Amino acid sequence: MQTLNIVVPCYNEEEMIPIFYEELSKNLKNITWEVIFINDGSTDNTLNVIKKLKKKYDNIKYLSFSRNFGKESAIYAGLEYSTGDYVVLMDVDLQDPPSLIPKMLTFIDKYDIIGTRRVTRKGEPAIRSFFARLFYKIANKITKVELVDGARDFRLMKREVVNAILDLKEYNRFSKGIFQWVGFETKWLEYENIERAKGETSWSFWGLFKYSIEGIVSFTTAPLHIATVIGIIFSIIAFLAIIFIIIKTIMFGDPVDGWPSTVSIILFLSGIQLFAAGIIGEYLAKIYLESKKRPIYIVKEKD
Ligand code: UDP
Ligand code: MG
Repeated sequence: MQTLNIVVPCYNEEEMIPIFYEELSKNLKNITWEVIFINDGSTDNTLNVIKKLKKKYDNIKYLSFSRNFGKESAIYAGLEYSTGDYVVLMDVDLQDPPSLIPKMLTFIDKYDIIGTRRVTRKGEPAIRSFFARLFYKIANKITKVELVDGARDFRLMKREVVNAILDLKEYNRFSKGIFQWVGFETKWLEYENIERAKGETSWSFWGLFKYSIEGIVSFTTAPLHIATVIGIIFSIIAFLAIIFIIIKTIMFGDPVDGWPSTVSIILFLSGIQLFAAGIIGEYLAKIYLESKKRPIYIVKEKD
């Protein structure tokens, strides 16, 4: 018989876990399934709530991290711990509707992955939607993997796909990119955005900004080439300017003026240099972290 694992990262979700489990049970009546909660270093009662629930039902497993490692690490841990032929990855806040799972299962014979896309961003702050769209535009221009706008992490995968994802052992994990990178045939299901049932989103604007830089840096080296191209263009301009100045000095002498323009040029160029150095720094930082080969997560207890 085919088995289904449901991998659920949880960070400070004490309120959501029982509601989530109940919703799952309601929607998965005729299927054998097992849920794996990953407690990502919650500071509230999440772990105890999971343990209490586990006493009542026998299709619950959990992993608990030694501290907060982030959703990406929780995803990796959950996938690694899963053994089922099929694995569903979903959030605990019911933004990923469990009612879609039976529908997803109907496609698994023909596809390797059933992914989900939000077709609207209803309920999301306008400014956040704007930057999200901008991110997808830029990322898709400069990276080779195609990121799907609105694609959620909520997905059903075959074992082969899960194993392929687990083979990517990088420390800086950007799942949206990794999922696309491994390939396989994907069927996309679309649904309307649903707001979080309880609790709060753990994403700040700054957090999302860093995450998008992470996404780009993890999947393309294009920005490094941008730095090179800008460098070349400005070297050519500087070379022409030097010739111009030499000729001008020979013909008209060298009266001391042009201070404002000199300062402007210096400021402008130092800005560009810092920008280029920053780009290199981003990559260097990633190489630094990868080269340490630290574990993606540390489990404190599991059951
Ligand atoms: N999450 C996690 N670790 C974190 C942050 C979030 O495991 O450090 C989990 C969280 O409990 C939820 C899912 O990741 O199940 C999505 O989080 P959230 O709802 O805050 O993100 P959003 O839906 O706003 O993108
Ligand atoms: Mg959410």
